[in-house]
Amino acid sequence: MSDWTILCDFDGTVTVEDTTDTLLERFGREGWEVLEEDWRAGRINSHDCMAGQVALLDMNHDEFDAHLAERALDSDFADFVDAAKARNVPIEILSDGLDYAIHNILRRAGLDSLPVISNRLQQVGDREWSLEFPNASTTCRVASGTCKCARASRAQNTRKRVLLIGDGASDYCVAEAADFVFAKGKLLAHCVTKKIPHVAIGGFADALNLLPMLLSGKLVAAPRNAVAPPVDVVSA
Ligand SMILES: [Mg+2]
Ligand SMILES: [Zn+2]
Repeated sequence: MSDWTILCDFDGTVTVEDTTDTLLERFGREGWEVLEEDWRAGRINSHDCMAGQVALLDMNHDEFDAHLAERALDSDFADFVDAAKARNVPIEILSDGLDYAIHNILRRAGLDSLPVISNRLQQVGDREWSLEFPNASTTCRVASGTCKCARASRAQNTRKRVLLIGDGASDYCVAEAADFVFAKGKLLAHCVTKKIPHVAIGGFADALNLLPMLLSGKLVAAPRNAVAPPVDVVSA
C-alpha cells in the first residue's frame, strides 16, 4: 500500500463545469445571483450561500435527472481512477457540492464505488429542495459546507500523505494542509500565492502522466512535516 491518498474535488475537476452553477442558471428562482454576489464580496460564507441557493431551485426530480444526464466528465478521469487503484492509492471525492448529483454522474461513468464526502441534498416538496451539511466544521478557515481540511488531517493522522486534485475556492482550506496539489483554475493561483507545493494540470490526462512521478518521489522529495522543497510550477 502506498503512503499516499488522493483527495479529489468534483465540480470543475471531475466534471467540466460546476454542477451547482449549471442548476442555478437553469432552475434558479430570482435571488440566487444576489447570494452569489454576496459570497464573492465576502458578505456571506459559502455554507450560507449554498443553503440559500439550493432553497431557490425550482425543479422536479425528472428535470433534475435529465439535467444531470447532460453533464460532461473529464474524459480521462476513469483511466486516472484505474491507474490509482492499480498502484494501491486510495482515491476519494471531497466536494462542497450536492451528493445526489455526484453519485448520479459517477454512476453513469461506472465509478459509483468511489467514496464521496459532500453536502446532502434533500427533496422537501415536488419542486423544493434543501441542503444539509453533515461534513461542516465550525473551525474551518473557509467555512465551506464540507470542510475538506478536516478530511486531510484525518488521512495524515494515519501517516498518509495527501495529494489534492482541484480547481476552486472550496479547495483552498485543504490545499494548505495537503502534501502536494495538482491544481487548475483559481486553485492554481492560490497555490502560487501561498507557496503550496503543486504542479499545474489542464485535466486528468496530465494527472495520469504526473501520478507515477509523484509516487516515485520525482515531484516531492521531502517526507510529510518536513519543510517542502521549492517546486517549480510546470505546465504539463
Ligand atoms: Mg471545484
Ligand atoms: Zn476546512
